[in-house]
Amino acid sequence: MPGPRTWRGVVCILVVALFMNAMPTAYAEEGDGSSWDTNSFDDQRDADSPSFYAPLSDLTPGYRPDKKTDEAGLWMVMDQVEAKLRRSASVVADQALRDYLQTIVCRLTPEYCPFIRLYPVRTAHFNATMAPNGTMQVWTGLLLRCQNEAQLAYILGHEISHYIRRHSLQRWRYIRGTGNVMAVLQLVTAGAGVGLVGDIAGLVALSTIFSYSRSHEREADKAGLALMAAAGYDPHEAAKAWQGLLEERETEEGKEKTAFFATHPPMEERIDNLNRQAKSLAEKGVLELGGDRYGKAVDRFRSIWLQDEVRRGQTKQSTVLLQRLAKGNAQDGLLLFYQGELLRRIGQREDTLKATDFYRRAINAGNAPPEVYRALGFASWDLNEIDRAIANFRAYLAAKPAADDREMILSYLEELKP
Ligand SMILES: [Zn+2]
Repeated sequence: MPGPRTWRGVVCILVVALFMNAMPTAYAEEGDGSSWDTNSFDDQRDADSPSFYAPLSDLTPGYRPDKKTDEAGLWMVMDQVEAKLRRSASVVADQALRDYLQTIVCRLTPEYCPFIRLYPVRTAHFNATMAPNGTMQVWTGLLLRCQNEAQLAYILGHEISHYIRRHSLQRWRYIRGTGNVMAVLQLVTAGAGVGLVGDIAGLVALSTIFSYSRSHEREADKAGLALMAAAGYDPHEAAKAWQGLLEERETEEGKEKTAFFATHPPMEERIDNLNRQAKSLAEKGVLELGGDRYGKAVDRFRSIWLQDEVRRGQTKQSTVLLQRLAKGNAQDGLLLFYQGELLRRIGQREDTLKATDFYRRAINAGNAPPEVYRALGFASWDLNEIDRAIANFRAYLAAKPAADDREMILSYLEELKP
Protein backbone atom coordinates (compact mmCIF):
# COMPACT_ATOMS: atom_id res chain seq x y z
CA MET A 1 0.00 0.00 0.00
CA PRO A 2 1.07 3.28 -0.71
CA GLY A 3 2.25 4.89 2.36
CA PRO A 4 3.81 3.95 5.55
CA ARG A 5 1.47 1.30 6.66
CA THR A 6 2.47 -1.13 4.02
CA TRP A 7 5.58 -2.21 5.48
CA ARG A 8 4.48 -2.01 8.92
CA GLY A 9 3.51 -5.30 8.68
CA VAL A 10 2.10 -8.32 8.77
CA VAL A 11 -0.63 -9.58 10.45
CA CYS A 12 -1.64 -12.87 11.46
CA ILE A 13 -4.62 -13.12 9.74
CA LEU A 14 -7.15 -15.14 9.96
CA VAL A 15 -7.21 -16.29 6.86
CA VAL A 16 -4.37 -16.48 4.89
CA ALA A 17 -1.77 -14.03 4.75
CA LEU A 18 -2.40 -10.80 5.73
CA PHE A 19 -1.16 -7.46 5.46
CA MET A 20 -4.02 -5.84 6.91
CA ASN A 21 -3.81 -2.41 5.56
CA ALA A 22 -1.85 -3.23 2.52
CA MET A 23 -3.50 -3.24 -0.82
CA PRO A 24 -2.82 -6.26 -2.91
CA THR A 25 -1.04 -4.35 -5.60
CA ALA A 26 1.20 -2.72 -3.12
CA TYR A 27 2.29 -6.00 -1.75
CA ALA A 28 2.92 -7.41 -5.15
CA GLU A 29 4.86 -4.41 -6.31
CA GLU A 30 6.80 -3.55 -3.26
CA GLY A 31 7.28 -6.98 -1.90
CA ASP A 32 8.27 -5.25 1.23
CA GLY A 33 8.42 -7.79 3.78
CA SER A 34 6.24 -8.28 6.28
CA SER A 35 6.32 -9.11 9.58
CA TRP A 36 4.05 -11.45 11.01
CA ASP A 37 1.49 -9.98 13.28
CA THR A 38 3.13 -6.67 13.78
CA ASN A 39 0.34 -4.55 12.52
CA SER A 40 -2.39 -5.80 14.70
CA PHE A 41 -1.42 -3.82 17.72
CA ASP A 42 -1.96 -0.69 15.80
CA ASP A 43 -5.40 -1.53 14.59
CA GLN A 44 -7.52 1.50 15.29
CA ARG A 45 -10.70 -0.29 14.36
CA ASP A 46 -10.43 -2.60 17.20
CA ALA A 47 -10.74 -2.39 20.90
CA ASP A 48 -8.03 -3.50 23.21
CA SER A 49 -10.33 -5.35 25.49
CA PRO A 50 -11.15 -9.02 25.91
CA SER A 51 -14.83 -8.13 26.19
CA PHE A 52 -14.87 -6.44 22.80
CA TYR A 53 -15.95 -9.60 21.05
CA ALA A 54 -18.84 -11.87 21.89
CA PRO A 55 -17.43 -14.82 23.85
CA LEU A 56 -16.90 -18.13 22.08
CA SER A 57 -15.98 -21.52 23.43
CA ASP A 58 -12.72 -23.07 22.22
CA LEU A 59 -12.77 -25.26 19.17
CA THR A 60 -12.93 -28.93 20.07
CA PRO A 61 -10.75 -31.38 18.11
CA GLY A 62 -12.56 -32.65 15.03
CA TYR A 63 -15.25 -29.99 15.25
CA ARG A 64 -17.11 -28.94 12.11
CA PRO A 65 -19.62 -26.13 12.20
CA ASP A 66 -23.31 -26.72 11.64
CA LYS A 67 -24.17 -26.06 8.01
CA LYS A 68 -26.72 -23.42 8.85
CA THR A 69 -24.28 -21.20 10.67
CA ASP A 70 -22.20 -18.24 9.59
CA GLU A 71 -19.19 -20.18 10.76
CA ALA A 72 -19.89 -22.86 8.14
CA GLY A 73 -19.91 -20.11 5.51
CA LEU A 74 -16.52 -18.94 6.65
CA TRP A 75 -15.17 -22.47 6.57
CA MET A 76 -16.58 -23.01 3.12
CA VAL A 77 -14.64 -20.07 1.73
CA MET A 78 -11.52 -21.35 3.43
CA ASP A 79 -12.12 -24.82 2.02
CA GLN A 80 -12.14 -23.24 -1.45
CA VAL A 81 -8.95 -21.40 -0.69
CA GLU A 82 -7.36 -24.60 0.50
CA ALA A 83 -8.42 -26.51 -2.60
CA LYS A 84 -6.63 -23.94 -4.72
CA LEU A 85 -3.66 -23.87 -2.43
CA ARG A 86 -3.34 -27.62 -2.82
CA ARG A 87 -2.77 -27.16 -6.55
CA SER A 88 -0.69 -24.04 -6.25
CA ALA A 89 2.84 -23.98 -7.60
CA SER A 90 3.78 -21.78 -4.66
CA VAL A 91 3.39 -24.62 -2.22
CA VAL A 92 6.69 -26.37 -1.61
CA ALA A 93 6.10 -29.87 -2.92
CA ASP A 94 8.43 -31.60 -0.56
CA GLN A 95 6.82 -34.24 1.58
CA ALA A 96 9.72 -34.46 4.02
CA LEU A 97 9.44 -30.75 4.80
CA ARG A 98 5.68 -30.97 5.24
CA ASP A 99 6.04 -34.00 7.47
CA TYR A 100 8.60 -32.19 9.55
CA LEU A 101 6.28 -29.22 10.09
CA GLN A 102 3.42 -31.55 10.90
CA THR A 103 5.58 -33.29 13.50
CA ILE A 104 6.08 -30.01 15.33
CA VAL A 105 2.35 -29.30 15.27
CA CYS A 106 1.67 -32.77 16.65
CA ARG A 107 4.19 -32.26 19.40
CA LEU A 108 2.61 -28.92 20.32
CA THR A 109 -0.93 -30.15 20.21
CA PRO A 110 -1.46 -33.89 19.65
CA GLU A 111 -5.23 -33.64 19.94
CA TYR A 112 -5.65 -31.01 17.22
CA CYS A 113 -2.83 -32.25 14.99
CA PRO A 114 -4.98 -34.59 12.85
CA PHE A 115 -7.19 -31.64 11.92
CA ILE A 116 -4.42 -29.23 10.92
CA ARG A 117 -2.99 -29.35 7.39
CA LEU A 118 0.40 -27.81 6.71
CA TYR A 119 1.35 -25.93 3.56
CA PRO A 120 4.86 -24.52 3.26
CA VAL A 121 4.51 -21.62 0.83
CA ARG A 122 7.47 -20.31 -1.11
CA THR A 123 7.49 -16.60 -0.53
CA ALA A 124 10.30 -14.57 0.96
CA HIS A 125 8.41 -13.00 3.82
CA PHE A 126 8.15 -13.68 7.48
CA ASN A 127 4.67 -15.05 7.94
CA ALA A 128 2.58 -17.94 9.10
CA THR A 129 -1.18 -18.09 9.04
CA MET A 130 -3.93 -20.33 10.18
CA ALA A 131 -7.40 -20.49 8.68
CA PRO A 132 -10.41 -21.46 10.78
CA ASN A 133 -10.84 -24.75 8.89
CA GLY A 134 -7.38 -25.97 9.90
CA THR A 135 -5.34 -24.81 6.91
CA MET A 136 -1.97 -23.63 8.08
CA GLN A 137 0.51 -21.82 5.87
CA VAL A 138 4.14 -21.46 6.78
CA TRP A 139 6.02 -19.11 4.49
CA THR A 140 9.58 -19.92 3.54
CA GLY A 141 10.79 -16.45 4.56
CA LEU A 142 9.81 -17.44 8.08
CA LEU A 143 11.64 -20.76 7.85
CA LEU A 144 14.75 -18.95 6.63
CA ARG A 145 14.62 -16.63 9.63
CA CYS A 146 14.03 -19.16 12.39
CA GLN A 147 17.27 -20.31 13.93
CA ASN A 148 15.99 -23.41 15.61
CA GLU A 149 12.91 -25.54 16.05
CA ALA A 150 11.95 -23.81 19.29
CA GLN A 151 11.47 -20.47 17.52
CA LEU A 152 9.35 -22.04 14.84
CA ALA A 153 7.37 -23.95 17.47
CA TYR A 154 6.49 -20.70 19.18
CA ILE A 155 5.15 -19.21 15.97
CA LEU A 156 3.19 -22.32 15.08
CA GLY A 157 1.87 -22.42 18.64
CA HIS A 158 0.74 -18.83 18.29
CA GLU A 159 -1.16 -19.63 15.09
CA ILE A 160 -2.69 -22.75 16.57
CA SER A 161 -3.90 -20.65 19.48
CA HIS A 162 -5.79 -18.31 17.14
CA TYR A 163 -7.36 -21.42 15.65
CA ILE A 164 -8.34 -23.10 18.89
CA ARG A 165 -9.75 -19.86 20.31
CA ARG A 166 -11.70 -19.26 17.08
CA HIS A 167 -10.44 -15.71 16.80
CA SER A 168 -11.26 -15.56 13.10
CA LEU A 169 -14.93 -16.24 13.75
CA GLN A 170 -14.99 -13.58 16.41
CA ARG A 171 -13.43 -11.15 14.02
CA TRP A 172 -15.74 -12.15 11.20
CA ARG A 173 -18.81 -11.59 13.34
CA TYR A 174 -17.47 -8.23 14.34
CA ILE A 175 -16.93 -7.20 10.72
CA ARG A 176 -20.38 -8.33 9.70
CA GLY A 177 -21.81 -6.54 12.70
CA THR A 178 -20.36 -3.31 11.41
CA GLY A 179 -22.32 -3.79 8.19
CA ASN A 180 -19.19 -3.79 6.07
CA VAL A 181 -20.67 -5.18 2.90
CA MET A 182 -17.46 -4.70 1.00
CA ALA A 183 -15.65 -6.94 3.40
CA VAL A 184 -18.20 -9.67 2.90
CA LEU A 185 -17.95 -9.37 -0.86
CA GLN A 186 -14.20 -9.32 -0.69
CA LEU A 187 -14.15 -12.50 1.28
CA VAL A 188 -16.19 -14.33 -1.27
CA THR A 189 -14.28 -13.04 -4.28
CA ALA A 190 -10.95 -13.54 -2.60
CA GLY A 191 -11.89 -17.11 -1.86
CA ALA A 192 -12.64 -17.59 -5.52
CA GLY A 193 -9.51 -15.82 -6.70
CA VAL A 194 -6.77 -17.39 -4.66
CA GLY A 195 -4.60 -19.58 -6.77
CA LEU A 196 -5.86 -18.21 -10.02
CA VAL A 197 -4.45 -14.81 -10.63
CA GLY A 198 -1.29 -15.30 -8.71
CA ASP A 199 -1.45 -16.56 -5.23
CA ILE A 200 -0.17 -13.49 -3.55
CA ALA A 201 -2.79 -11.14 -4.89
CA GLY A 202 -5.53 -13.47 -3.75
CA LEU A 203 -3.99 -14.03 -0.39
CA VAL A 204 -3.52 -10.37 0.20
CA ALA A 205 -7.07 -9.64 -0.84
CA LEU A 206 -8.14 -11.93 1.92
CA SER A 207 -5.77 -10.28 4.27
CA THR A 208 -7.35 -6.93 3.75
CA ILE A 209 -10.49 -8.29 5.27
CA PHE A 210 -9.23 -9.76 8.43
CA SER A 211 -6.69 -9.05 11.00
CA TYR A 212 -6.56 -9.91 14.61
CA SER A 213 -6.95 -7.38 17.34
CA ARG A 214 -4.52 -6.48 20.02
CA SER A 215 -6.35 -8.62 22.54
CA HIS A 216 -6.34 -11.57 20.15
CA GLU A 217 -2.62 -11.20 19.57
CA ARG A 218 -1.88 -10.96 23.23
CA GLU A 219 -3.92 -14.05 23.90
CA ALA A 220 -2.28 -16.01 21.08
CA ASP A 221 1.20 -14.95 22.23
CA LYS A 222 0.55 -16.19 25.73
CA ALA A 223 -1.16 -19.40 24.70
CA GLY A 224 1.42 -20.14 22.00
CA LEU A 225 4.21 -19.68 24.49
CA ALA A 226 2.49 -22.03 26.93
CA LEU A 227 2.09 -24.63 24.18
CA MET A 228 5.75 -24.55 23.22
CA ALA A 229 6.94 -24.66 26.81
CA ALA A 230 4.61 -27.57 27.63
CA ALA A 231 6.01 -29.39 24.60
CA GLY A 232 9.52 -29.05 26.05
CA TYR A 233 10.91 -26.19 23.96
CA ASP A 234 12.88 -23.38 25.48
CA PRO A 235 10.38 -20.51 25.82
CA HIS A 236 13.19 -17.94 25.83
CA GLU A 237 13.38 -18.46 22.08
CA ALA A 238 9.93 -16.94 21.50
CA ALA A 239 10.97 -13.32 21.89
CA LYS A 240 14.01 -13.92 19.69
CA ALA A 241 11.77 -14.57 16.73
CA TRP A 242 10.47 -11.02 17.17
CA GLN A 243 13.77 -9.47 18.01
CA GLY A 244 15.32 -10.47 14.71
CA LEU A 245 12.40 -8.99 12.83
CA LEU A 246 12.67 -5.79 14.81
CA GLU A 247 16.32 -5.47 13.82
CA GLU A 248 15.41 -5.82 10.16
CA ARG A 249 12.77 -3.15 10.49
CA GLU A 250 15.14 -0.75 12.14
CA THR A 251 17.00 -0.41 8.85
CA GLU A 252 14.11 1.58 7.41
CA GLU A 253 14.52 5.28 6.85
CA GLY A 254 12.48 8.45 6.61
CA LYS A 255 8.74 8.15 6.49
CA GLU A 256 8.84 4.42 6.83
CA LYS A 257 11.00 4.65 9.87
CA THR A 258 8.57 7.07 11.48
CA ALA A 259 5.80 4.67 10.74
CA PHE A 260 7.85 1.89 12.16
CA PHE A 261 8.40 3.61 15.44
CA ALA A 262 4.72 4.33 15.70
CA THR A 263 4.21 0.61 16.09
CA HIS A 264 7.50 0.01 17.78
CA PRO A 265 6.48 0.29 21.41
CA PRO A 266 3.81 -2.40 21.13
CA MET A 267 6.33 -4.69 19.50
CA GLU A 268 8.69 -4.08 22.35
CA GLU A 269 5.88 -4.65 24.77
CA ARG A 270 5.29 -7.95 23.09
CA ILE A 271 8.92 -8.97 23.40
CA ASP A 272 8.95 -7.91 27.05
CA ASN A 273 5.80 -9.87 27.79
CA LEU A 274 7.18 -12.98 26.14
CA ASN A 275 10.48 -12.71 27.99
CA ARG A 276 8.74 -12.24 31.31
CA GLN A 277 6.36 -15.14 30.76
CA ALA A 278 9.22 -17.32 29.50
CA LYS A 279 11.07 -16.84 32.74
CA SER A 280 8.37 -18.41 34.86
CA LEU A 281 7.62 -21.16 32.33
CA ALA A 282 11.28 -22.06 31.96
CA GLU A 283 11.57 -22.96 35.61
CA LYS A 284 9.38 -25.95 35.05
CA GLY A 285 10.85 -28.11 32.43
CA VAL A 286 13.19 -29.24 29.76
CA LEU A 287 14.54 -26.51 27.55
CA GLU A 288 15.03 -27.83 24.08
CA LEU A 289 16.16 -25.74 21.10
CA GLY A 290 16.07 -28.40 18.40
CA GLY A 291 18.77 -26.62 16.41
CA ASP A 292 20.30 -29.71 14.80
CA ARG A 293 16.94 -31.17 13.89
CA TYR A 294 15.88 -27.87 12.40
CA GLY A 295 19.07 -27.63 10.34
CA LYS A 296 18.59 -31.13 9.05
CA ALA A 297 15.07 -30.31 7.89
CA VAL A 298 15.69 -26.95 6.23
CA ASP A 299 19.37 -26.70 5.27
CA ARG A 300 18.89 -28.17 1.83
CA PHE A 301 16.46 -25.33 1.00
CA ARG A 302 18.58 -22.49 2.28
CA SER A 303 20.23 -21.67 -1.02
CA ILE A 304 16.93 -21.14 -2.81
CA TRP A 305 15.39 -19.25 0.12
CA LEU A 306 18.42 -16.99 0.37
CA GLN A 307 18.16 -16.34 -3.34
CA ASP A 308 14.49 -15.42 -2.89
CA GLU A 309 15.46 -13.12 -0.04
CA VAL A 310 18.08 -11.29 -2.12
CA ARG A 311 15.60 -10.89 -4.99
CA ARG A 312 13.13 -9.24 -2.64
CA GLY A 313 15.09 -6.07 -3.25
CA GLN A 314 15.20 -4.91 0.36
CA THR A 315 18.97 -4.80 0.58
CA LYS A 316 19.28 -3.21 4.00
CA GLN A 317 16.82 -5.56 5.66
CA SER A 318 18.37 -8.56 3.97
CA THR A 319 21.86 -7.49 5.02
CA VAL A 320 20.78 -7.36 8.66
CA LEU A 321 19.17 -10.75 8.29
CA LEU A 322 22.21 -12.37 6.70
CA GLN A 323 24.53 -10.87 9.28
CA ARG A 324 22.31 -12.32 11.98
CA LEU A 325 22.28 -15.73 10.34
CA ALA A 326 26.06 -15.59 9.93
CA LYS A 327 26.62 -15.06 13.64
CA GLY A 328 28.46 -18.13 14.84
CA ASN A 329 28.41 -19.26 11.23
CA ALA A 330 30.84 -16.77 9.77
CA GLN A 331 32.55 -19.27 7.50
CA ASP A 332 29.40 -20.60 5.87
CA GLY A 333 30.06 -20.38 2.13
CA LEU A 334 26.40 -20.01 1.28
CA LEU A 335 25.88 -17.05 3.59
CA LEU A 336 29.12 -15.46 2.40
CA PHE A 337 28.02 -15.84 -1.22
CA TYR A 338 24.65 -14.18 -0.64
CA GLN A 339 26.20 -11.39 1.41
CA GLY A 340 28.31 -10.74 -1.68
CA GLU A 341 25.21 -10.82 -3.86
CA LEU A 342 23.55 -8.16 -1.73
CA LEU A 343 26.56 -5.90 -2.05
CA ARG A 344 26.84 -6.42 -5.80
CA ARG A 345 23.22 -5.32 -6.22
CA ILE A 346 24.09 -1.88 -4.89
CA GLY A 347 26.24 -1.39 -7.96
CA GLN A 348 28.81 1.06 -6.56
CA ARG A 349 32.45 0.22 -7.18
CA GLU A 350 33.27 0.10 -3.50
CA ASP A 351 30.45 -2.33 -2.84
CA THR A 352 31.43 -4.49 -5.78
CA LEU A 353 34.96 -4.69 -4.37
CA LYS A 354 33.56 -5.79 -1.04
CA ALA A 355 31.37 -8.31 -2.84
CA THR A 356 34.40 -9.91 -4.49
CA ASP A 357 35.93 -10.33 -1.08
CA PHE A 358 32.83 -12.16 0.13
CA TYR A 359 32.87 -14.37 -2.98
CA ARG A 360 36.48 -15.33 -2.44
CA ARG A 361 35.83 -16.17 1.16
CA ALA A 362 32.81 -18.19 0.07
CA ILE A 363 34.97 -20.20 -2.35
CA ASN A 364 37.52 -20.84 0.39
CA ALA A 365 34.78 -21.93 2.77
CA GLY A 366 34.01 -24.80 0.43
CA ASN A 367 30.21 -24.93 0.39
CA ALA A 368 29.44 -22.04 -1.92
CA PRO A 369 27.23 -22.81 -4.94
CA PRO A 370 28.86 -22.86 -8.42
CA GLU A 371 27.14 -19.52 -9.08
CA VAL A 372 29.79 -17.88 -6.93
CA TYR A 373 32.18 -18.10 -9.90
CA ARG A 374 29.65 -16.51 -12.22
CA ALA A 375 29.07 -13.72 -9.69
CA LEU A 376 32.80 -13.19 -9.38
CA GLY A 377 32.99 -13.10 -13.16
CA PHE A 378 30.42 -10.33 -13.38
CA ALA A 379 31.96 -8.41 -10.49
CA SER A 380 35.41 -8.62 -12.09
CA TRP A 381 33.95 -7.47 -15.38
CA ASP A 382 32.35 -4.49 -13.63
CA LEU A 383 35.73 -3.69 -12.10
CA ASN A 384 37.31 -3.98 -15.54
CA GLU A 385 39.44 -6.93 -14.47
CA ILE A 386 38.93 -8.80 -17.70
CA ASP A 387 41.35 -11.70 -17.21
CA ARG A 388 39.76 -12.44 -13.86
CA ALA A 389 36.27 -12.23 -15.36
CA ILE A 390 37.23 -14.76 -18.05
CA ALA A 391 38.81 -17.13 -15.53
CA ASN A 392 35.75 -17.05 -13.31
CA PHE A 393 33.22 -17.53 -16.09
CA ARG A 394 35.25 -20.55 -17.17
CA ALA A 395 35.38 -21.81 -13.61
CA TYR A 396 31.59 -21.46 -13.43
CA LEU A 397 31.04 -23.56 -16.56
CA ALA A 398 33.52 -26.14 -15.28
CA ALA A 399 31.72 -26.33 -11.94
CA LYS A 400 28.28 -26.47 -13.57
CA PRO A 401 28.64 -27.89 -17.09
CA ALA A 402 24.88 -28.20 -17.58
CA ALA A 403 24.09 -24.64 -16.46
CA ASP A 404 20.93 -23.20 -18.04
CA ASP A 405 22.78 -20.04 -18.94
CA ARG A 406 25.75 -21.84 -20.49
CA GLU A 407 25.22 -20.32 -23.92
CA MET A 408 24.97 -16.85 -22.50
CA ILE A 409 28.18 -17.26 -20.52
CA LEU A 410 29.93 -18.58 -23.63
CA SER A 411 28.83 -15.49 -25.52
CA TYR A 412 30.27 -13.29 -22.76
CA LEU A 413 33.53 -15.20 -22.98
CA GLU A 414 33.56 -14.56 -26.71
CA GLU A 415 32.93 -10.89 -26.11
CA LEU A 416 35.67 -10.64 -23.51
CA LYS A 417 38.23 -12.50 -25.56
CA PRO A 418 41.34 -10.37 -25.97
ZN1 LIG B 1 -1.40 -13.70 15.56
